[in-house]
Amino acid sequence: MLRTHTCGELNIQNIDNQVVLCGWVQKSRDLGGMTFIDLRDRYGITQLAFNLDVNVTLCMEARKLGREFVVKATGTVKERESKNSKMSTGDIEILVTAFEVLNASQTPPFTIEDNTDGGDDLRMKYRYLDLRRSPVRSNIELRHRLAIETRNYLDKQKFLEVETPVLIKSTPEGARDFVVPSRMNQGQFYALPQSPQTFKQLLMVAGIDRYYQIVKCFRDEDLRADRQPEFTQIDCEMSFVEREDILNTFEGLIRHAFKAVKGIDLPVLKRMSYADAMKYYGCDKPDIRFDMRFVDLKDSVNGKSFKVFDEAESVIGIVAEGCSDYTRKQLDELTEFVKRPQLGANGLVYVKFGADGTVKSSVDKFYDADALKVIGEKCGAKSGDLLLILAGNDDKTRKAMNELRLEMGTRLGLRDKNKYECLWVLDFPLLEWSEEAQRWFAMHHPFTSPLPEDLTLLNSNPGAVRANAYDMVINGVEVGGGSIRIHDKGLQKEMFTILGFTDEEAQNQFGFLMNAFEFGAPPHGGIAFGFDRLCSLFGGSESIRDFIAFPKNNSGRDVMIDAPSLISDVQLKELAIKIS
Ligand code: ASP
Repeated sequence: MLRTHTCGELNIQNIDNQVVLCGWVQKSRDLGGMTFIDLRDRYGITQLAFNLDVNVTLCMEARKLGREFVVKATGTVKERESKNSKMSTGDIEILVTAFEVLNASQTPPFTIEDNTDGGDDLRMKYRYLDLRRSPVRSNIELRHRLAIETRNYLDKQKFLEVETPVLIKSTPEGARDFVVPSRMNQGQFYALPQSPQTFKQLLMVAGIDRYYQIVKCFRDEDLRADRQPEFTQIDCEMSFVEREDILNTFEGLIRHAFKAVKGIDLPVLKRMSYADAMKYYGCDKPDIRFDMRFVDLKDSVNGKSFKVFDEAESVIGIVAEGCSDYTRKQLDELTEFVKRPQLGANGLVYVKFGADGTVKSSVDKFYDADALKVIGEKCGAKSGDLLLILAGNDDKTRKAMNELRLEMGTRLGLRDKNKYECLWVLDFPLLEWSEEAQRWFAMHHPFTSPLPEDLTLLNSNPGAVRANAYDMVINGVEVGGGSIRIHDKGLQKEMFTILGFTDEEAQNQFGFLMNAFEFGAPPHGGIAFGFDRLCSLFGGSESIRDFIAFPKNNSGRDVMIDAPSLISDVQLKELAIKIS
């Protein structure tokens, strides 16, 4: 090694040791007869000291070192005069006796400090410099730790990590495929896997029994902060299991990860049916760090000549505790919030249950104090509370109320990112009707089995059939999902028919799986976790990009390597592709 120690490990115990350190110049300052340089590497920062009185030439040379120069410094560990208790190496400095510039550097386009002056775009363009910053590096370290702990746990549970191919045929996970043209089979394309779904099922037919893979998946979708065109899953599958076995095994994984990575003992995961999640929270991934459940008020508000409520399909209220003193301005803000085109509510009704027992409402023309108190009781509102009510079409009202509930949770500080509430959401509908396509779609994917007790409804009332599926939700984020699969060829065929595939189409796309099911497919089921999302949750950040070494931007571009890009005419010709 070019060094004896790293920049993060020397302390008071090393006084008078002769050491050699290597790293980057973070900053340098001249104070009278002394020059100090902060030398940085992955492990920390150590102060180098040069004394003008002791060695003029060396000190003058040190003064020439620019930011991000790569330096090898030899010297003696000394106790510092002014210590810095915030740094692990803050008690010592290195009195340098010799140094060598291993490489010069241009002035970096932004400061390589915990709080940088670099904007997003610039940091992405020079991501290798951004990665030198300790908050970014510690995210990557967290990702590594989570991967290791995942492997440790699954290995102990006898899961085999098996790699599946990246050049495959389209998998129907509901998103658009990325495709890759084949030179050797002109006019034909591979698809990049949206997930290894069909392969992991084939591995079960192959008798692998327990499979996992930390694997890249690709979906050509519109991007958001928590979506990337390529993302990583912890993908798992097990044979000879029922739903309960999967829930236990992967609850175990999450508990292990929380304990090992964050030192947190998770309580037993709560469970909620999809129907209840929609009823009480208006979404299938409720944030249960706070209560504020929906209360159905339709029956309590009817018949008072308030048309908006009388004509609404749904009237839903939530109680914001201790908010009865909300000002006009605050209420206007909330009204604007729910009226945004994305939510599309027509308005917001409020009832203030004052601490002094008074009741004030935006609809007191129609509801006297007694009527409002009855409504308040129904919601469990106490004096000092604010009741917020939305009305309209059921679907839309629930969606808008979900957003309003989350907004109130945020405003009231009820969504502490250091508090974790994990939940299994169970019994999703198997199918979703698309008005546009006029056909059923699989809510999860077409290999998901119906709950055994709902099987008889499959033909008579497909919309009522519940899936043997489950999602894991942490703090309102869906971190994983899976299902017990169909392992019977007949049922799988029936499923494809319900989904509008002709026999020929099904055979064409999924013949390989259906054929495999002819050769003794075991009962099986599995789950996949969004690994990037788990990392960002563990790290307390909204954006998965912060936990990916080289992420893409919102337009799916890697601005550092400038991809995607044009390819040469020669390449196009080889592929027999013409760009129109
Ligand atoms: N392949 C599924 C997904 O990516 C997960 C699973 O069913 O195991 O969502």
